[in-house]
Amino acid sequence: MSTPHNLGFARMGANRELKKAEEAFWSRKLSQDDLLQTARKLREQHWSWQAAAGLPILPCGDFSLYDQVLDTALLFDVIPSRFRGLHAEDELTLYFAMARGTAGNDGVPALEMTKWFDTNYHYLVPEFSASQQFRLARNLPLDNFREAAQIGFAARPVLLGPITFLLLGKMKEADSEPLDLLDRLLPAYETLLQSLAAAGVSWVQIDEPVLATDLPGATRQALVRAFNRLARVAPLRILLATYFGALGDNLPTALQLPVAALHLDLVRGPEQLEAAIASAPDALTLSLGLIDGRNIWKTDLGQALDLAERAAGKLGPEKIMIAPSCSLLHVPIDLTLETKLAPEVKDWLAFGRQKLDEVVLLSRAINEGRTRVREALDANEAALSRRKQSPLIHNPSVQDRLAAIKPEDFTRPLDFVARKKLQQARLALPPLPTTTIGSFPQTPELRRERARRRKGEITAEQYEQFVEGEIAQTIREQERLGLDVLVHGEPERNDMVEYFGELLSGFAFTENGWVQSYGARCVKPPIIFGDVMRSGPMTVKWWQFAQSLTKRPVKGMLTGPVTILEWSFVRDDQPRRDTCFQLALALRDEILDLEKAGCRVVQLDEPALREGMPLAKAEQSAYLDWAVNAFRLATSGVAGATQIHTHMCYAEFNDILHAIAAMDADVISMESARSQMELMDSFARYHYKNDVGPGIYDIHSPRIPSTEEMRGLLEKALVIIPAEQLWVNPDCGLKTRSWAEVTSALHNLVQAAQSLRVP
Ligand code: GLN
Ligand code: ZN
Repeated sequence: MSTPHNLGFARMGANRELKKAEEAFWSRKLSQDDLLQTARKLREQHWSWQAAAGLPILPCGDFSLYDQVLDTALLFDVIPSRFRGLHAEDELTLYFAMARGTAGNDGVPALEMTKWFDTNYHYLVPEFSASQQFRLARNLPLDNFREAAQIGFAARPVLLGPITFLLLGKMKEADSEPLDLLDRLLPAYETLLQSLAAAGVSWVQIDEPVLATDLPGATRQALVRAFNRLARVAPLRILLATYFGALGDNLPTALQLPVAALHLDLVRGPEQLEAAIASAPDALTLSLGLIDGRNIWKTDLGQALDLAERAAGKLGPEKIMIAPSCSLLHVPIDLTLETKLAPEVKDWLAFGRQKLDEVVLLSRAINEGRTRVREALDANEAALSRRKQSPLIHNPSVQDRLAAIKPEDFTRPLDFVARKKLQQARLALPPLPTTTIGSFPQTPELRRERARRRKGEITAEQYEQFVEGEIAQTIREQERLGLDVLVHGEPERNDMVEYFGELLSGFAFTENGWVQSYGARCVKPPIIFGDVMRSGPMTVKWWQFAQSLTKRPVKGMLTGPVTILEWSFVRDDQPRRDTCFQLALALRDEILDLEKAGCRVVQLDEPALREGMPLAKAEQSAYLDWAVNAFRLATSGVAGATQIHTHMCYAEFNDILHAIAAMDADVISMESARSQMELMDSFARYHYKNDVGPGIYDIHSPRIPSTEEMRGLLEKALVIIPAEQLWVNPDCGLKTRSWAEVTSALHNLVQAAQSLRVP
């Protein structure tokens, strides 16, 4: 009998209950007990759904109040010394301090945050020191297992594996590697597994997603060493979970590890199944990740069954498990909550709960034969063919324009040096020019007005008037603070992708399709189901209004094609590149309209460029080629005197500097405050020629950095980057902060820049 199972579930709740409870707790409107009670209820709800779908064993410990990597750090007592003082206070204070930093003059900066593999989920980066000690401290997996058992659910604790945990972390000391700590870490994992075994746990899931990346031989050996030790904790059975790609060269190693089951992502890497079947040891169970945990389309069940039957035929049905490709953390919870989607589009989709139904159905088809589930299979096939033939998807004029793109469409008419001269003459900016990334606080009033507009309680004119008031205030404040290149503040946007999606054809939107981005922050990715086209200007009116209020340049503010693509659920019936180029063409038209209206500076944000990169090295350069080309296609239509900015945040950029350079933006602003300017070293070493603005204000923390602190960061940057190249800006947009925080921080930021300007 094959077993259906799941690697992890979303945490926020179908109505984002966790987010609401946490935000209330942080603003002291909810007690700790009530927060924990909400979390408990959510876990119970999510287990109930999974059990009701027909899963005999449920993941536990996949739930987190903020992030599973932070949970793992605390599980093993990995607490950087700056947080030790908070130990005396309660556990949650420490937990949220590590996640978010603390406010006030003696505030402590949070852990660094970065993207979880190629997803838009952000994890907190563990900080290790060479003298790091590990011990089993905060045993959440055990607590959650007991909690599930108490309710009556058989559960399987989900742990982040030791190798991935170490490799995701950072060493304080430059001359040491996290993997050096493995031998000290393993005993703590052993103690953990022993505690689980003693509590009656039979299966434990250990996630090692690094197996989907290229690993040096030494890391593979470390994996073997680690699992050899962990496997000795009898009578526990280990399910080793890999996801987000094929294992490639790591497959033989993974297959030989002494684990009871190995999970493979067969959505991203279907081809690895044959090799796995061929060389799986007799005792090994294969868990087949056949349902896409990263996208929202109905599975082609017939095709998935072909793979499952092939595995079942070779290994025996009792040696296979059926699962989503990865945790369902990355898809919305429940399609049935959507009441406004066009029925034709809804018919093509499956969210988390529907995916579990697919998992169970596939498993039944294996165990009982296709004929027993014939009706469901036929319905699935019919839906897929309705999608293929739908006129909603195909727009010949878009396809024609795509086919007619010429090589010169990707290159600006002048090189950077020539452009910079023209731009300097036109903009006359001081040295170390100051700017912000785009958004200003999205205040409760602003959200309220938007909600009222959506409900039809105010007219479009009333709403526009309100937005104009916000823009006017934003311009006034920036002038008062002394910023050089202004922004309109993006008050008309609820979200930097959704806003554009709503104005483009080929997009659909959900009411409840939330996905966790980091901590309590969720995003509601649009669904790109068809050819993308712009029907008219999307931002020009707002920009014009903002520019009419000031002499200083106001940036036109757009979201880049790769980011719109990455932060949407993208159609899987054509190459992602084609969809991305369609987006680029629409944005190119928008940039030209801005330029025509008199806009001198346009920013095209690409914060998601790095996260879209495939994990396997062999696929990376092809991706970077088209991703960079999409940016160039969007930005190359303008004159040399028009300054193009881009912005990126939250990722490791060191390995894609060549691609960043190839984008050829005149100015790039980047997140770097939390990592203390480390990034600038790489830019200097790379001899990056265009202008850069390393962020000097970590906007994800309520903490307000002083003038001295930001001046210190700028001085650090100036040691490695020539002053003529340096811009001064925050890490990212300011939408999540309050006006009080923003004005204090930006005041200090402007002072820091001005104090360094040579007269
Ligand atoms: N312009 C956007 C903003 O300021 C950029 C946000 C981002 O990088 N995620 O909000
Ligand atoms: Zn950003």
